[in-house]
Amino acid sequence: MQVMDESVHGTRDRRGHYVPNKTLKIAPLYPPRWRETLAWLPSYFLPWNVVFAASAVLYWVFFIPPVEVLQTLEIGWILRLYVINVIAVALFYGAFEVRLYVARAQEGRFKFNPRFPSEVKSRQFWFRSQNVENILRTFLYGVTVWTLSAALMLWAWANMWGNWLSFAEAPIYLAIVALFVSFLHQAHFYVIHRLIHTPWLYKHVHAIHHKSVNPSPWSSLAMHPFEHVLYFASVFWHVLLPSHPLIALYQLHKAGFGAIPGHIGFEKIEFGEDKAIDAHAYGHYLHHKYFEVNYGDGLVPFDKLFGTYHDGTPEADAAMRARLKSMRTEAAPS
Ligand SMILES: [Zn+2]
Ligand SMILES: [Zn+2]
Repeated sequence: MQVMDESVHGTRDRRGHYVPNKTLKIAPLYPPRWRETLAWLPSYFLPWNVVFAASAVLYWVFFIPPVEVLQTLEIGWILRLYVINVIAVALFYGAFEVRLYVARAQEGRFKFNPRFPSEVKSRQFWFRSQNVENILRTFLYGVTVWTLSAALMLWAWANMWGNWLSFAEAPIYLAIVALFVSFLHQAHFYVIHRLIHTPWLYKHVHAIHHKSVNPSPWSSLAMHPFEHVLYFASVFWHVLLPSHPLIALYQLHKAGFGAIPGHIGFEKIEFGEDKAIDAHAYGHYLHHKYFEVNYGDGLVPFDKLFGTYHDGTPEADAAMRARLKSMRTEAAPS
């Protein structure tokens, strides 16, 4: 069988790490460059945002209880929502894990780090296994905080606490809010991410997520529960904004399911013999590799503004090393 040739799209460094030949770009919106924006737009929607918006609609139609039930916080419907989330995460995350890491459908092609986490036993993980700890953290804490955040938002809506609108009242405004869900997600994530990189919070909270230096799908929600609380709090912007609970659910799915792309560990996902889609994983992979770069992605240009953007090129690598060196010199006692 013919297989894809990764060397057309990148090289391997002397440690065998895959380096794509591409330059990551921030969205062409600052200021808008119309022709580039038009060319970029499909990648804003496809494939991920369409999937997360569709999953929110699916939930809204089939799984969210009627408003009379949501008016009271009761363990029954919240537990049911938790079970639905567990099944959805197991299926969605599991699909990537099974194809790329268990069946190894494309072996190591396009994999950034040549090792697979299951091959490495390490004392720093529960049961000496990155996968076991990450799976347990995902379901024990991650999906729990996600479900509770959803429940609180739905409860607030059912009791009309907040600035909720209906689609009949404000269809155009709500469509615009839905369009900006990803921007809100990135801005929120950037701010909390910088916060948890401050020394005390890093040591006690965020270091857990960074144990996955070689991330895989189960690293996506492998966090300290306090980080989950901050992370999923993006949904509460919709209680403050005039918004609609369906869009708030989309915001949550963007956080919950949307954590996957950055942690796939592969630059491209192959399908068929000669086709592959870009996983959009490289920017956040560089964050896991180098820690002090790419706190967000290029959708909201905060990294670019604050000098922490790494676009994957050797020049960005040199700039990062110079910046870290000068930070260390400043921090060292004279
Ligand atoms: Zn991460
Ligand atoms: Zn981080």
